[in-house]
Amino acid sequence: ATPLALMVGTGRGAQMGIIIKGPEVLESTRRIDTVVLDKTGTVTTGEMTLVGTHVAAGEQPEEVLRLGGALEEYSEHPIARAVATGATQRLGELPAVTDFASIEGKGVRGSVEHHAVLVGRSSLMSEHDQEFPDELDQAKTAAEATGNTAVAVAWDGRVRGLFVIADAVKPTSAEAIRQLRQLGLRPILLTGDTTTVARTVAAEVGIEPGEETVIAEVLPEDKVEVIRRLQHQGRAVAMVGDGVNDAAALAQADLGLSMGTGTDVAIEASDLTLVRGDLRVAPEAIRLSRRTLATIK
Ligand code: ADP
Ligand code: MG
Repeated sequence: ATPLALMVGTGRGAQMGIIIKGPEVLESTRRIDTVVLDKTGTVTTGEMTLVGTHVAAGEQPEEVLRLGGALEEYSEHPIARAVATGATQRLGELPAVTDFASIEGKGVRGSVEHHAVLVGRSSLMSEHDQEFPDELDQAKTAAEATGNTAVAVAWDGRVRGLFVIADAVKPTSAEAIRQLRQLGLRPILLTGDTTTVARTVAAEVGIEPGEETVIAEVLPEDKVEVIRRLQHQGRAVAMVGDGVNDAAALAQADLGLSMGTGTDVAIEASDLTLVRGDLRVAPEAIRLSRRTLATIK
């Protein structure tokens, strides 16, 4: 490949809203046959809002919002931002938290008004021996069936309520995935969220919800393992992500694409940055590199 042609390709990328780390990146896109897409912030907007609060029999919604919301005020996670904002809007100032701790990819814990409070995924609740009432289990299933994320709120041994958080699919995601497929690439959805939520979102953007195409409930540190496993199967993998959690996977992938709207850590770990956070630029980038390389040959 002549450096000049690659430089021209890089320049065109900039016009399209793609920042390319270096001309050599265009070469590595040629072999790509699989595209792993992070769900939150990549396929979805990542702008989450609290759309509902369910409570267990005998519990008050205000109390669940107050204690759960107080804890989430201390977390930077998009789910936490949505819960804290919703709780503050409804209740005003929330109580103070002591002994706050964040549990990566699972949730948060801390003391609020002498209660040991937990907010997070179901596995966190069972790991801390919090009883999960049936009515909340049903509410969780119903919320997830619509693609919403449900997180549990527990204190003193029992799950007291459930926050339902909505995160809309970006209007451009389905079209982007259709184009990736047209280029002969196999899309895979990857997320720390539950299988039910992941499959609903997958169906919405045209990824068939199978075991190989939707990889859910993956802990942040295991995302890189998913990429390695696919590479061991002989696949050449592009990864598209936005979060701090995605950085190792972006670096491991044969081609890492970050969202310009994402975190600096993800942008630094990637080869290409999609400036506007529009997923349709991913197939554009692959088309550009193929064209650039074709003119070189
Ligand atoms: P993703 O891979 O989709 O970006 P994360 O790995 O950040 O997701 O989180 C995985 C899951 O852990 C979330 O879907 C949620 O159930 C739970 N979780 C993580 N942090 C928090 C928090 N601060 N509050 C509530 N739940 C959380
Ligand atoms: Mg993300």
